Amino acid sequence: MLEAVIGLEIHAQLLTETKIFCGCRTTFGAPPNTLVCPVCLGLPGALPVLNRRAVEFAVKAASALSCTINETSIFARKNYFYPDLPKGYQISQYEQPLASDGWLPAGGTRVGIRRVHMEEDAGKSLHHGFPDSDRATYLDFNRSGVPLIEIVTEPDLRSAADAAECFSRIREILVALGVNDGNMEEGSLRCDANVSVRPAGSAALGTKAEVKNVNSFRFLQKAIEFEIARQREVVAADGRVVQETRLWNSDTGETTSMRSKEEAHDYRYFPEPDLPPLVVAPAWVEEIRATMPELPEARKQRFVAMYALPEYDADVLVRLIPGADRGFEALVAAGAPAKAASNWLQGEVRRKLKEAGAEDVSAMPVPLAALAELIQLAERGVISSTVAKEVFDRMWTTGRSAQEIVDAEGLAQIGDEAALQALVAEVLARHPDALAQIRAGRTNLLGFLVGQVMKATQGKANPRLVSDLIKARLG
Ligand SMILES: [Zn+2]
Repeated sequence: MLEAVIGLEIHAQLLTETKIFCGCRTTFGAPPNTLVCPVCLGLPGALPVLNRRAVEFAVKAASALSCTINETSIFARKNYFYPDLPKGYQISQYEQPLASDGWLPAGGTRVGIRRVHMEEDAGKSLHHGFPDSDRATYLDFNRSGVPLIEIVTEPDLRSAADAAECFSRIREILVALGVNDGNMEEGSLRCDANVSVRPAGSAALGTKAEVKNVNSFRFLQKAIEFEIARQREVVAADGRVVQETRLWNSDTGETTSMRSKEEAHDYRYFPEPDLPPLVVAPAWVEEIRATMPELPEARKQRFVAMYALPEYDADVLVRLIPGADRGFEALVAAGAPAKAASNWLQGEVRRKLKEAGAEDVSAMPVPLAALAELIQLAERGVISSTVAKEVFDRMWTTGRSAQEIVDAEGLAQIGDEAALQALVAEVLARHPDALAQIRAGRTNLLGFLVGQVMKATQGKANPRLVSDLIKARLG
């Protein structure tokens, strides 16, 4: 039996206003070659100056991934030739990265973070007209020198689904920190996966292939699944997996070989002579950490501890419904009981948002304070849960408050026992068969009778009270 071994390499563009070694802006989508200067064009004699804000953002990201921030790190030249790399080398970090030895929870385990280092992005090649005869490649250097961090995980992941979850959690952390916009389509967050297989239980690593060109969580999962299956087939046929870079093609659902992997020493790394060692004083790291917002995992734990929410609810609110964590706290602050607020966000609110083609709770037209009022009316038993859903629909379209709608349309629950008694008697008289069958032991028909009474009151009765009244009549 072969098990899969997966590690991720994530490149995240830092949301600074200017580039990492010059003052050019980082705006996405500007006309080609308008955000450039001698430094990011790699002209001879131009000298890089490190952007302090980029270091701050990198420290935030590494801290959130529980890394040790190395007080001294070294920028290095990674030498390779590519048309969109005008200097012929990329300034990165190699032997002494900014941070190392972190971890994050994913796939039900701890996934190690080997390192987080800073580097500059390259420019972009735009291929035009291929494969026709008037083909050309244009170069846009606007992206050249944009600050990146590269996050390298340990090969701790064992399935494609866990790898996708790990990437998703890292994205959540970076976005929550405000250091990256999480936009995979524009390429400001990119993920490569190193995939290998080995006999289950073996400690040695198999030969890995690097899967590139994946720009969504779904594709990451599919690409890794494909790659694992491909390598298992190769090994099963007594073949040998070769070390190479493979490109994911989302049209065919396959990875194909792009090039055999250069060995690390091919890059002829050496310390960047134009930049001094980067020294990040512990006091500065403390200062930076003090400005970090609450992270998703911590928020989840706080929801469980502070509001007695089940883990499942906390996870859904914090991770799966955009804006639901803020919405939840606003509802509770406005007086809604925590579990009920959570149920509403996961149920009706999510459903209505989906209908409206939205996702984020902040897009809801009903103010959270108004929803809190509705939840309280339902929780106090003033209206039944069925009616509460209808009232919510009306609040959504009319903008009126729950109390206004309940008052104007006489929707308050019938709590008057005498009135209900009469209705119950009427319904029982209409269904003597059901009554006889319940007495004969088919107690599941009780629900049917409760339903009939609820129908007769247009959902305004308290179903628990109705059930009690019917039981009392049955004796
Ligand atoms: Zn520049």
